Amino acid sequence: MDRRAFLGLAAGTALRPAADGPVQALAHELDGHVVAQGASGYAAALRLWDTRFDDLRPRAIAYCANAADVQRTVRWGRANGVRIVPRSGGHSYGGYSSGDGVVVADVSLLHGVSVGAGNAAVGAGATLIAVYAELASHGVTIPGGSCPTVGIAGLALGGGYGFASRLYGLTADNVRSVRIVTADGSLLTCDASMHPDLFWACRGGGGGNFGIVTSFTFTTHPAPTVSTYEIQWPWKQAASAVAAWQAFAPHAPDALTSVLDLIADATGLHVVSAGQYVGTQSRLKKLIAPLASVGTPTIVKTTTLTYLEAMLHWAGCRDAASCTSGRTTFDARSDYIDAPLSREAISLLVDAIEKHKGSTAAIYLDAYGGTINRVPKAATAFVHRDALFSIQYTANASFGWLDTLYAAMRPHVSGYAYQNYIDPKLASWQHAYYGANLARLQAVKRKYDPDNAFRFSQSIP
Ligand SMILES: Cc1cc2nc3c(=O)[nH]c(=O)nc-3n(C[C@H](O)[C@H](O)[C@H](O)COP(=O)(O)OP(=O)(O)OC[C@H]3O[C@@H](n4cnc5c(N)ncnc54)[C@H](O)[C@@H]3O)c2cc1C
Repeated sequence: MDRRAFLGLAAGTALRPAADGPVQALAHELDGHVVAQGASGYAAALRLWDTRFDDLRPRAIAYCANAADVQRTVRWGRANGVRIVPRSGGHSYGGYSSGDGVVVADVSLLHGVSVGAGNAAVGAGATLIAVYAELASHGVTIPGGSCPTVGIAGLALGGGYGFASRLYGLTADNVRSVRIVTADGSLLTCDASMHPDLFWACRGGGGGNFGIVTSFTFTTHPAPTVSTYEIQWPWKQAASAVAAWQAFAPHAPDALTSVLDLIADATGLHVVSAGQYVGTQSRLKKLIAPLASVGTPTIVKTTTLTYLEAMLHWAGCRDAASCTSGRTTFDARSDYIDAPLSREAISLLVDAIEKHKGSTAAIYLDAYGGTINRVPKAATAFVHRDALFSIQYTANASFGWLDTLYAAMRPHVSGYAYQNYIDPKLASWQHAYYGANLARLQAVKRKYDPDNAFRFSQSIP
Protein backbone atom coordinates (compact mmCIF):
# COMPACT_ATOMS: atom_id res chain seq x y z
CA MET A 1 0.00 0.00 0.00
CA ASP A 2 1.49 3.37 -0.93
CA ARG A 3 1.41 6.53 1.15
CA ARG A 4 -1.53 8.12 -0.62
CA ALA A 5 -3.60 4.96 -0.40
CA PHE A 6 -2.72 4.83 3.24
CA LEU A 7 -3.84 8.43 3.69
CA GLY A 8 -7.15 7.74 2.00
CA LEU A 9 -7.83 4.98 4.47
CA ALA A 10 -6.52 6.89 7.43
CA ALA A 11 -8.37 10.17 6.84
CA GLY A 12 -10.59 10.96 9.78
CA THR A 13 -9.08 8.27 11.98
CA ALA A 14 -7.66 9.45 15.28
CA LEU A 15 -4.02 9.20 16.18
CA ARG A 16 -3.40 5.89 17.89
CA PRO A 17 -1.85 7.12 21.08
CA ALA A 18 1.81 6.57 21.42
CA ALA A 19 2.85 7.88 24.82
CA ASP A 20 3.66 11.34 23.46
CA GLY A 21 1.44 13.92 25.08
CA PRO A 22 2.58 16.99 23.13
CA VAL A 23 2.15 15.17 19.80
CA GLN A 24 -1.27 14.05 20.88
CA ALA A 25 -2.14 17.65 21.71
CA LEU A 26 -1.05 18.64 18.19
CA ALA A 27 -3.23 15.90 16.73
CA HIS A 28 -6.24 17.30 18.58
CA GLU A 29 -5.54 20.81 17.25
CA LEU A 30 -5.36 19.86 13.58
CA ASP A 31 -8.14 19.49 11.03
CA GLY A 32 -5.82 16.99 9.38
CA HIS A 33 -4.27 14.09 11.24
CA VAL A 34 -1.03 13.02 12.81
CA VAL A 35 0.81 9.73 12.56
CA ALA A 36 3.20 9.41 15.50
CA GLN A 37 5.97 6.96 16.22
CA GLY A 38 4.31 3.79 17.39
CA ALA A 39 1.04 4.48 15.56
CA SER A 40 -0.19 2.10 12.91
CA GLY A 41 0.82 3.37 9.49
CA TYR A 42 3.95 5.09 10.81
CA ALA A 43 6.31 2.98 8.67
CA ALA A 44 4.45 3.99 5.52
CA ALA A 45 4.01 7.62 6.56
CA LEU A 46 7.70 8.28 7.15
CA ARG A 47 8.83 7.10 3.72
CA LEU A 48 10.49 9.41 1.25
CA TRP A 49 10.96 8.53 -2.40
CA ASP A 50 14.53 7.31 -1.83
CA THR A 51 14.78 4.15 0.27
CA ARG A 52 18.15 5.29 1.62
CA PHE A 53 16.19 7.42 4.11
CA ASP A 54 13.97 4.66 5.47
CA ASP A 55 15.98 4.66 8.70
CA LEU A 56 15.09 8.24 9.58
CA ARG A 57 12.70 8.36 12.53
CA PRO A 58 10.61 11.54 12.70
CA ARG A 59 8.69 11.95 15.94
CA ALA A 60 5.48 12.31 13.93
CA ILE A 61 4.10 13.16 10.53
CA ALA A 62 1.45 15.90 10.64
CA TYR A 63 -0.83 15.79 7.60
CA CYS A 64 -1.95 19.41 7.38
CA ALA A 65 -5.42 19.80 5.87
CA ASN A 66 -5.23 23.56 5.33
CA ALA A 67 -2.97 26.59 5.83
CA ALA A 68 -4.26 27.02 9.39
CA ASP A 69 -3.02 23.49 10.19
CA VAL A 70 0.43 24.47 8.92
CA GLN A 71 0.36 27.53 11.19
CA ARG A 72 -0.73 25.39 14.16
CA THR A 73 2.06 22.91 13.49
CA VAL A 74 4.71 25.61 13.24
CA ARG A 75 3.51 27.29 16.46
CA TRP A 76 3.37 23.93 18.22
CA GLY A 77 6.97 23.29 17.13
CA ARG A 78 8.08 26.62 18.60
CA ALA A 79 6.23 26.04 21.86
CA ASN A 80 7.60 22.52 22.26
CA GLY A 81 11.12 23.08 20.94
CA VAL A 82 10.60 20.61 18.09
CA ARG A 83 12.01 21.16 14.62
CA ILE A 84 9.26 21.23 11.99
CA VAL A 85 10.28 20.01 8.54
CA PRO A 86 8.10 20.61 5.48
CA ARG A 87 7.44 17.79 3.05
CA SER A 88 5.68 17.96 -0.30
CA GLY A 89 6.56 15.17 -2.77
CA GLY A 90 9.33 13.71 -0.57
CA HIS A 91 11.92 13.58 -3.38
CA SER A 92 14.76 15.46 -1.69
CA TYR A 93 18.06 13.88 -2.78
CA GLY A 94 19.39 14.56 0.73
CA GLY A 95 16.38 13.30 2.67
CA TYR A 96 15.91 16.84 3.96
CA SER A 97 12.14 16.59 4.16
CA SER A 98 12.49 14.25 7.14
CA GLY A 99 14.84 13.65 10.05
CA ASP A 100 15.26 11.95 13.39
CA GLY A 101 13.07 13.46 16.10
CA VAL A 102 11.47 16.10 13.87
CA VAL A 103 7.81 16.57 13.11
CA VAL A 104 7.22 16.43 9.38
CA ALA A 105 4.64 18.98 8.19
CA ASP A 106 3.29 17.07 5.21
CA VAL A 107 1.39 19.28 2.76
CA SER A 108 0.23 16.52 0.41
CA LEU A 109 -3.41 17.16 1.37
CA LEU A 110 -3.00 20.73 0.02
CA HIS A 111 -3.12 19.60 -3.58
CA GLY A 112 -5.89 21.70 -5.10
CA VAL A 113 -5.41 23.29 -8.53
CA SER A 114 -7.70 26.11 -9.64
CA VAL A 115 -7.35 27.86 -12.95
CA GLY A 116 -8.00 31.58 -13.51
CA ALA A 117 -7.39 33.93 -16.42
CA GLY A 118 -3.72 33.47 -17.29
CA ASN A 119 -2.90 32.03 -13.90
CA ALA A 120 -3.44 29.03 -11.66
CA ALA A 121 -3.41 28.57 -7.89
CA VAL A 122 -1.71 25.31 -6.95
CA GLY A 123 -1.56 23.75 -3.49
CA ALA A 124 1.98 23.14 -2.25
CA GLY A 125 1.42 19.39 -2.03
CA ALA A 126 0.28 18.80 -5.60
CA THR A 127 2.36 16.33 -7.58
CA LEU A 128 3.61 17.38 -10.96
CA ILE A 129 1.51 14.98 -12.98
CA ALA A 130 -1.64 16.08 -11.14
CA VAL A 131 -0.79 19.70 -11.93
CA TYR A 132 -0.18 18.93 -15.61
CA ALA A 133 -3.40 16.91 -15.87
CA GLU A 134 -5.63 19.49 -14.19
CA LEU A 135 -4.13 22.39 -16.13
CA ALA A 136 -4.41 20.43 -19.40
CA SER A 137 -8.15 20.03 -18.83
CA HIS A 138 -8.28 23.85 -19.05
CA GLY A 139 -5.95 23.96 -22.08
CA VAL A 140 -3.04 25.50 -20.17
CA THR A 141 0.23 24.49 -18.52
CA ILE A 142 3.25 25.61 -16.52
CA PRO A 143 6.82 24.49 -17.16
CA GLY A 144 7.82 21.83 -14.64
CA GLY A 145 9.93 18.72 -14.44
CA SER A 146 9.50 15.23 -15.84
CA CYS A 147 9.13 13.08 -12.70
CA PRO A 148 5.39 12.68 -12.11
CA THR A 149 5.48 12.43 -8.32
CA VAL A 150 7.86 15.28 -7.54
CA GLY A 151 6.06 17.84 -5.38
CA ILE A 152 5.39 21.29 -6.78
CA ALA A 153 6.79 22.94 -3.63
CA GLY A 154 10.26 21.41 -3.66
CA LEU A 155 10.47 21.82 -7.43
CA ALA A 156 9.39 25.47 -7.67
CA LEU A 157 11.28 26.71 -4.60
CA GLY A 158 14.59 25.42 -5.97
CA GLY A 159 14.08 26.25 -9.68
CA GLY A 160 12.25 23.57 -11.66
CA TYR A 161 13.67 22.43 -14.98
CA GLY A 162 11.81 20.47 -17.65
CA PHE A 163 11.07 19.99 -21.32
CA ALA A 164 9.43 23.42 -21.70
CA SER A 165 12.03 25.40 -19.75
CA ARG A 166 13.96 26.84 -22.66
CA LEU A 167 10.66 28.24 -23.96
CA TYR A 168 8.69 29.21 -20.82
CA GLY A 169 11.49 29.40 -18.23
CA LEU A 170 11.91 27.50 -14.98
CA THR A 171 8.95 26.70 -12.75
CA ALA A 172 10.25 29.38 -10.36
CA ASP A 173 10.26 31.95 -13.16
CA ASN A 174 6.52 31.46 -13.53
CA VAL A 175 5.62 31.96 -9.86
CA ARG A 176 3.46 35.05 -9.42
CA SER A 177 2.80 34.79 -5.70
CA VAL A 178 3.45 32.48 -2.77
CA ARG A 179 1.49 31.85 0.43
CA ILE A 180 3.91 30.85 3.16
CA VAL A 181 3.84 30.20 6.90
CA THR A 182 6.93 31.75 8.46
CA ALA A 183 8.74 30.74 11.65
CA ASP A 184 6.50 32.84 13.93
CA GLY A 185 3.40 31.11 12.55
CA SER A 186 2.26 34.01 10.33
CA LEU A 187 0.68 33.21 6.98
CA LEU A 188 2.10 35.69 4.46
CA THR A 189 1.25 36.35 0.84
CA CYS A 190 4.40 37.30 -1.05
CA ASP A 191 4.53 38.79 -4.52
CA ALA A 192 6.22 41.62 -6.39
CA SER A 193 4.78 44.20 -4.00
CA MET A 194 4.11 42.31 -0.73
CA HIS A 195 7.19 40.95 1.03
CA PRO A 196 9.13 41.19 -2.24
CA ASP A 197 12.36 40.08 -0.56
CA LEU A 198 10.79 36.81 0.56
CA PHE A 199 9.10 36.43 -2.83
CA TRP A 200 12.53 36.80 -4.46
CA ALA A 201 14.03 34.16 -2.13
CA CYS A 202 11.21 31.70 -2.81
CA ARG A 203 12.13 31.61 -6.49
CA GLY A 204 15.34 29.56 -6.39
CA GLY A 205 16.39 29.85 -2.75
CA GLY A 206 15.50 26.19 -2.21
CA GLY A 207 12.87 24.33 -0.17
CA GLY A 208 12.84 24.20 3.60
CA ASN A 209 14.65 27.50 4.21
CA PHE A 210 12.21 30.34 4.85
CA GLY A 211 8.94 28.79 5.94
CA ILE A 212 6.31 26.34 4.76
CA VAL A 213 4.62 27.23 1.49
CA THR A 214 0.93 26.39 1.41
CA SER A 215 0.19 27.45 -2.19
CA PHE A 216 1.58 29.15 -5.27
CA THR A 217 0.01 31.21 -8.00
CA PHE A 218 1.64 30.58 -11.38
CA THR A 219 1.43 32.33 -14.70
CA THR A 220 -0.01 29.78 -17.13
CA HIS A 221 0.72 29.25 -20.83
CA PRO A 222 -1.54 27.76 -23.47
CA ALA A 223 -0.76 24.02 -23.57
CA PRO A 224 0.49 23.53 -27.11
CA THR A 225 0.62 20.44 -29.26
CA VAL A 226 4.29 19.46 -29.31
CA SER A 227 6.68 17.40 -31.41
CA THR A 228 9.14 15.14 -29.66
CA TYR A 229 12.26 13.41 -30.91
CA GLU A 230 14.51 10.56 -29.92
CA ILE A 231 17.88 9.69 -31.39
CA GLN A 232 19.94 6.67 -30.35
CA TRP A 233 23.47 5.91 -31.46
CA PRO A 234 25.65 2.81 -31.25
CA TRP A 235 27.65 3.06 -28.01
CA LYS A 236 30.96 3.42 -29.83
CA GLN A 237 29.68 6.78 -31.14
CA ALA A 238 28.85 8.09 -27.66
CA ALA A 239 31.66 10.66 -27.52
CA SER A 240 30.73 12.10 -30.94
CA ALA A 241 27.08 12.29 -29.87
CA VAL A 242 27.95 14.21 -26.69
CA ALA A 243 30.19 16.60 -28.64
CA ALA A 244 27.48 17.25 -31.23
CA TRP A 245 24.74 17.62 -28.62
CA GLN A 246 26.60 20.19 -26.54
CA ALA A 247 27.29 22.26 -29.65
CA PHE A 248 23.61 22.09 -30.61
CA ALA A 249 21.23 21.87 -27.66
CA PRO A 250 22.04 24.99 -25.58
CA HIS A 251 21.88 27.15 -28.73
CA ALA A 252 18.78 25.66 -30.37
CA PRO A 253 15.65 27.82 -30.78
CA ASP A 254 13.85 28.39 -27.45
CA ALA A 255 10.98 26.17 -28.54
CA LEU A 256 13.28 23.11 -28.39
CA THR A 257 14.46 21.73 -25.05
CA SER A 258 16.64 18.65 -25.25
CA VAL A 259 18.60 16.23 -23.12
CA LEU A 260 21.23 13.56 -23.64
CA ASP A 261 21.61 10.42 -21.54
CA LEU A 262 24.50 7.98 -21.20
CA ILE A 263 23.17 4.81 -19.60
CA ALA A 264 24.42 1.42 -18.50
CA ASP A 265 21.74 -1.13 -17.65
CA ALA A 266 21.11 -4.84 -17.84
CA THR A 267 20.46 -4.59 -21.59
CA GLY A 268 23.73 -2.85 -22.39
CA LEU A 269 25.15 0.63 -22.97
CA HIS A 270 23.00 3.39 -24.44
CA VAL A 271 23.50 6.90 -25.72
CA VAL A 272 20.19 8.66 -26.34
CA SER A 273 19.12 12.22 -26.99
CA ALA A 274 15.48 13.28 -26.65
CA GLY A 275 13.65 16.56 -26.77
CA GLN A 276 10.42 18.46 -27.04
CA TYR A 277 9.67 21.13 -29.63
CA VAL A 278 6.71 23.48 -29.70
CA GLY A 279 6.20 23.36 -33.45
CA THR A 280 5.65 20.93 -36.27
CA GLN A 281 7.36 17.59 -36.80
CA SER A 282 8.68 18.66 -40.19
CA ARG A 283 10.34 21.74 -38.67
CA LEU A 284 11.71 19.64 -35.81
CA LYS A 285 13.23 17.14 -38.27
CA LYS A 286 15.11 20.01 -39.93
CA LEU A 287 16.23 21.41 -36.58
CA ILE A 288 17.70 18.14 -35.32
CA ALA A 289 19.42 17.34 -38.61
CA PRO A 290 22.84 18.44 -37.26
CA LEU A 291 22.43 15.90 -34.47
CA ALA A 292 20.85 13.12 -36.49
CA SER A 293 23.62 13.38 -39.09
CA VAL A 294 26.32 12.55 -36.55
CA GLY A 295 27.58 8.98 -36.85
CA THR A 296 25.08 6.31 -37.77
CA PRO A 297 22.11 6.58 -35.37
CA THR A 298 20.17 3.36 -34.89
CA ILE A 299 16.93 5.21 -34.12
CA VAL A 300 15.77 8.66 -35.27
CA LYS A 301 12.11 9.19 -34.58
CA THR A 302 9.74 12.13 -34.13
CA THR A 303 6.17 12.16 -32.83
CA THR A 304 3.34 14.66 -32.43
CA LEU A 305 1.61 14.68 -29.03
CA THR A 306 -0.84 16.77 -27.05
CA TYR A 307 0.87 18.55 -24.19
CA LEU A 308 -0.46 16.14 -21.57
CA GLU A 309 0.51 13.15 -23.71
CA ALA A 310 4.01 14.58 -23.85
CA MET A 311 4.17 14.96 -20.05
CA LEU A 312 3.00 11.34 -19.67
CA HIS A 313 5.56 10.25 -22.25
CA TRP A 314 8.45 11.88 -20.33
CA ALA A 315 7.06 10.46 -17.07
CA GLY A 316 6.88 6.97 -18.61
CA CYS A 317 3.14 6.66 -17.89
CA ARG A 318 0.06 5.65 -19.85
CA ASP A 319 -2.36 7.89 -17.97
CA ALA A 320 -2.27 10.45 -15.19
CA ALA A 321 -4.39 8.45 -12.73
CA SER A 322 -1.95 5.53 -12.59
CA CYS A 323 1.21 7.56 -13.00
CA THR A 324 3.74 6.88 -10.25
CA SER A 325 7.49 6.91 -10.26
CA GLY A 326 7.97 4.08 -7.73
CA ARG A 327 10.46 4.26 -4.89
CA THR A 328 14.08 3.45 -5.42
CA THR A 329 17.56 3.58 -3.94
CA PHE A 330 19.35 6.46 -5.56
CA ASP A 331 22.34 8.75 -5.21
CA ALA A 332 23.54 11.55 -7.45
CA ARG A 333 26.10 14.29 -7.82
CA SER A 334 25.84 17.12 -10.29
CA ASP A 335 27.50 20.04 -12.04
CA TYR A 336 26.75 22.98 -14.26
CA ILE A 337 28.81 23.38 -17.42
CA ASP A 338 29.48 26.89 -18.69
CA ALA A 339 32.02 26.13 -21.43
CA PRO A 340 31.92 23.20 -23.88
CA LEU A 341 33.44 20.00 -22.50
CA SER A 342 36.82 19.07 -23.96
CA ARG A 343 37.38 15.73 -25.63
CA GLU A 344 39.15 14.60 -22.43
CA ALA A 345 36.14 15.51 -20.26
CA ILE A 346 33.73 13.73 -22.60
CA SER A 347 35.93 10.62 -22.41
CA LEU A 348 35.69 10.71 -18.61
CA LEU A 349 31.89 10.54 -18.88
CA VAL A 350 31.80 7.85 -21.55
CA ASP A 351 34.45 5.70 -19.82
CA ALA A 352 32.64 5.95 -16.46
CA ILE A 353 29.45 4.52 -17.96
CA GLU A 354 31.34 1.92 -19.99
CA LYS A 355 32.84 0.53 -16.79
CA HIS A 356 29.30 -0.25 -15.61
CA LYS A 357 28.35 -2.45 -18.53
CA GLY A 358 25.86 -5.02 -17.21
CA SER A 359 24.97 -3.04 -14.10
CA THR A 360 23.17 0.31 -13.69
CA ALA A 361 24.61 3.80 -13.94
CA ALA A 362 23.53 6.92 -15.79
CA ILE A 363 24.70 10.40 -16.68
CA TYR A 364 22.07 12.95 -17.69
CA LEU A 365 22.78 16.19 -19.56
CA ASP A 366 19.99 18.84 -19.61
CA ALA A 367 20.28 21.81 -21.99
CA TYR A 368 19.94 25.33 -20.60
CA GLY A 369 19.98 28.59 -22.58
CA GLY A 370 16.90 30.16 -24.15
CA THR A 371 14.42 31.80 -21.78
CA ILE A 372 16.17 30.39 -18.67
CA ASN A 373 19.37 32.26 -19.38
CA ARG A 374 17.75 35.55 -20.34
CA VAL A 375 16.57 36.14 -16.76
CA PRO A 376 19.16 38.30 -14.96
CA LYS A 377 21.05 36.42 -12.22
CA ALA A 378 19.81 38.73 -9.47
CA ALA A 379 16.19 38.92 -10.65
CA THR A 380 15.33 35.76 -8.70
CA ALA A 381 17.33 33.71 -6.20
CA PHE A 382 18.13 31.19 -9.00
CA VAL A 383 21.62 32.26 -10.03
CA HIS A 384 22.46 29.67 -12.73
CA ARG A 385 21.65 31.81 -15.74
CA ASP A 386 24.73 31.27 -17.88
CA ALA A 387 25.01 27.49 -17.84
CA LEU A 388 25.13 25.64 -21.14
CA PHE A 389 23.78 22.52 -19.47
CA SER A 390 23.66 20.56 -16.24
CA ILE A 391 25.15 17.11 -15.67
CA GLN A 392 23.85 14.56 -13.20
CA TYR A 393 25.90 11.49 -12.34
CA THR A 394 23.46 8.96 -10.88
CA ALA A 395 23.47 5.43 -9.51
CA ASN A 396 21.06 2.99 -7.87
CA ALA A 397 23.77 0.94 -6.18
CA SER A 398 27.59 0.85 -5.87
CA PHE A 399 27.77 4.60 -5.38
CA GLY A 400 31.56 4.90 -5.04
CA TRP A 401 32.19 5.65 -8.72
CA LEU A 402 30.12 8.84 -8.42
CA ASP A 403 32.77 10.41 -6.20
CA THR A 404 35.61 9.21 -8.43
CA LEU A 405 34.03 10.68 -11.54
CA TYR A 406 32.98 13.83 -9.70
CA ALA A 407 36.61 14.41 -8.60
CA ALA A 408 37.93 13.76 -12.11
CA MET A 409 35.49 16.28 -13.60
CA ARG A 410 36.60 19.20 -11.34
CA PRO A 411 38.90 20.84 -13.93
CA HIS A 412 36.13 20.74 -16.54
CA VAL A 413 33.11 22.21 -14.74
CA SER A 414 31.83 25.58 -13.50
CA GLY A 415 31.85 24.96 -9.73
CA TYR A 416 28.08 25.52 -9.59
CA ALA A 417 25.40 22.90 -8.92
CA TYR A 418 21.60 22.82 -9.05
CA GLN A 419 20.10 23.24 -5.56
CA ASN A 420 17.26 20.87 -6.44
CA TYR A 421 19.83 18.11 -7.01
CA ILE A 422 20.83 18.78 -3.44
CA ASP A 423 24.03 16.95 -2.58
CA PRO A 424 24.93 16.29 1.07
CA LYS A 425 28.55 15.58 0.05
CA LEU A 426 29.06 18.92 -1.64
CA ALA A 427 31.58 20.89 0.45
CA SER A 428 31.22 24.25 -1.30
CA TRP A 429 27.42 24.05 -1.52
CA GLN A 430 26.75 27.64 -0.47
CA HIS A 431 28.66 28.98 -3.45
CA ALA A 432 27.64 26.12 -5.76
CA TYR A 433 23.88 26.59 -5.26
CA TYR A 434 23.64 30.34 -4.77
CA GLY A 435 26.81 32.11 -5.96
CA ALA A 436 26.40 35.90 -5.86
CA ASN A 437 22.86 35.61 -4.48
CA LEU A 438 23.95 34.01 -1.18
CA ALA A 439 24.37 37.22 0.85
CA ARG A 440 20.88 38.42 -0.11
CA LEU A 441 19.40 35.03 0.78
CA GLN A 442 21.10 35.19 4.17
CA ALA A 443 19.55 38.62 4.80
CA VAL A 444 16.09 37.26 3.96
CA LYS A 445 16.71 34.29 6.24
CA ARG A 446 17.70 36.54 9.17
CA LYS A 447 14.60 38.69 8.66
CA TYR A 448 11.96 35.94 8.38
CA ASP A 449 13.58 33.16 10.41
CA PRO A 450 15.83 34.93 12.94
CA ASP A 451 16.03 31.89 15.24
CA ASN A 452 16.86 29.48 12.41
CA ALA A 453 13.80 27.35 13.09
CA PHE A 454 13.87 25.96 9.55
CA ARG A 455 17.27 24.33 9.39
CA PHE A 456 18.95 21.28 7.92
CA SER A 457 22.56 20.58 7.06
CA GLN A 458 22.42 22.63 3.83
CA SER A 459 19.90 25.32 4.82
CA ILE A 460 20.74 28.97 4.19
CA PRO A 461 23.03 29.85 7.11
C1 LIG B 1 13.05 10.91 -9.66
C2 LIG B 1 13.32 12.38 -9.60
C3 LIG B 1 13.15 13.13 -10.76
C4 LIG B 1 13.39 14.51 -10.74
N1 LIG B 1 13.20 15.23 -11.89
C5 LIG B 1 13.39 16.57 -11.86
C6 LIG B 1 13.16 17.36 -13.01
O1 LIG B 1 12.74 16.86 -14.07
N2 LIG B 1 13.40 18.69 -12.94
C7 LIG B 1 13.85 19.29 -11.79
O2 LIG B 1 14.05 20.50 -11.79
N3 LIG B 1 14.07 18.56 -10.67
C8 LIG B 1 13.86 17.23 -10.68
N4 LIG B 1 14.09 16.49 -9.56
C9 LIG B 1 14.61 17.16 -8.36
C10 LIG B 1 13.46 17.77 -7.57
O3 LIG B 1 13.14 19.03 -8.12
C11 LIG B 1 13.88 17.97 -6.11
O4 LIG B 1 14.24 16.74 -5.55
C12 LIG B 1 12.76 18.63 -5.30
O5 LIG B 1 13.31 19.23 -4.16
C13 LIG B 1 11.70 17.63 -4.89
O6 LIG B 1 10.61 18.28 -4.33
P1 LIG B 1 9.59 17.44 -3.44
O7 LIG B 1 8.56 18.39 -2.95
O8 LIG B 1 9.16 16.23 -4.19
O9 LIG B 1 10.54 16.93 -2.29
P2 LIG B 1 10.54 17.10 -0.71
O10 LIG B 1 11.55 16.11 -0.25
O11 LIG B 1 9.18 17.03 -0.15
O12 LIG B 1 11.07 18.58 -0.49
C14 LIG B 1 12.32 19.03 -0.97
C15 LIG B 1 12.80 20.17 -0.06
O13 LIG B 1 11.82 21.20 -0.04
C16 LIG B 1 11.29 21.36 1.26
N5 LIG B 1 9.84 21.55 1.16
C17 LIG B 1 8.90 20.61 0.82
N6 LIG B 1 7.69 21.14 0.87
C18 LIG B 1 7.84 22.43 1.20
C19 LIG B 1 6.93 23.50 1.43
N7 LIG B 1 5.63 23.31 1.30
N8 LIG B 1 7.42 24.71 1.77
C20 LIG B 1 8.76 24.89 1.93
N9 LIG B 1 9.66 23.93 1.75
C21 LIG B 1 9.20 22.70 1.38
C22 LIG B 1 11.66 20.12 2.03
O14 LIG B 1 11.77 20.34 3.43
C23 LIG B 1 12.99 19.74 1.38
O15 LIG B 1 14.04 20.48 1.95
C24 LIG B 1 13.84 15.13 -9.54
C25 LIG B 1 14.00 14.36 -8.38
C26 LIG B 1 13.75 13.00 -8.41
C27 LIG B 1 13.95 12.22 -7.15
